[in-house]
Amino acid sequence: MQLIWRLFTLAGSLWVSWVQHYLLWDSSFWDAKEDGKGSWIWRKLLKLRDIAFPYMKAVVNSGADVFFWFDNWLDQGKLIDITGAAGTILFGVPRNARISDIMTEGRWNIRGCHNRSWPTLHRQILDTPVPCPEAGLDVRLWRHSDSQYKATFSASETWQQRRLKRETVPWSKVVWFSQGIPRYCFITWLTVKNRLSTGDRMRSWGVQQHCPLCGEPDESRDHLFFACPFSYTVWDNVAGRLLGQRMNPDWSTTLCALHSSRFAPMDWVLVRLVFQMTIYHVWKERNGRRHQKPWASAAQVTRSIDKMMRNRISSRRYGARHKLTGLLRRWFEVAP
Ligand SMILES: [Zn+2]
Repeated sequence: MQLIWRLFTLAGSLWVSWVQHYLLWDSSFWDAKEDGKGSWIWRKLLKLRDIAFPYMKAVVNSGADVFFWFDNWLDQGKLIDITGAAGTILFGVPRNARISDIMTEGRWNIRGCHNRSWPTLHRQILDTPVPCPEAGLDVRLWRHSDSQYKATFSASETWQQRRLKRETVPWSKVVWFSQGIPRYCFITWLTVKNRLSTGDRMRSWGVQQHCPLCGEPDESRDHLFFACPFSYTVWDNVAGRLLGQRMNPDWSTTLCALHSSRFAPMDWVLVRLVFQMTIYHVWKERNGRRHQKPWASAAQVTRSIDKMMRNRISSRRYGARHKLTGLLRRWFEVAP
């Protein structure tokens, strides 16, 4: 998200100039096609656009940097979403036009005074003060709360806003919880959203990819977690005693068991921690094998998870009367 913000605000940087020159040509970032060009990061940025767009607003000064159809400058989102591509013809404004391109002698130069399709939009544009070339650079704003936009990016405010929205999905407490480790929460979130680059996603790029853990030809999120014999063995080792009858190789059943079962307070913390660490370690082992790193056995991965759990729990020192005081003792009871 921060990179997207920089793309709009660091006009002088080498990376931004490079992107504008080679990847965007003359079009808007919001309009760029996902054609597999550019680096891995660039393709991820393009995929994040739908999430990032509602956070951004443009304040028009000279209008030289703001795209008429794609930037949110009228508080209406992308104008092209309102009119469709036909709007470019009806308004006589090309797809790549900046706001400054559509003024002549201090007046808006758009067609369609008799435009019956979008009279309100038309009116709204004509009622907006005409930008002036001397007014200075256009400004980008980032949303910090529902009603507040600022000229700076804030990772924590953005995270807060996204977290509040996520509160409504049933699995949010499995992903985000106060004893969680951000790195693991994040990879769990990617997994729940099925955004990991597993084999089934690579297939659309023409790449056939088998599961490096067991050799199954069709790697997918559901296979890795935990239909795969390797990862299920690990999962059963570390969570078998916490979940008991609820152990299941099926992804949806597992996720549902986690968020809808009633656990004792300590077990509820442990089961989520161990779930996230298992996802992390299985994904790490899978990536290691794909990149020709030495293989770890299911027993070794199990031991790594157990070790991480101990470290994590002992690093949190709970007071004598805290409800999680016996957490480490409880982990020893259920650990592999
Ligand atoms: Zn497998």
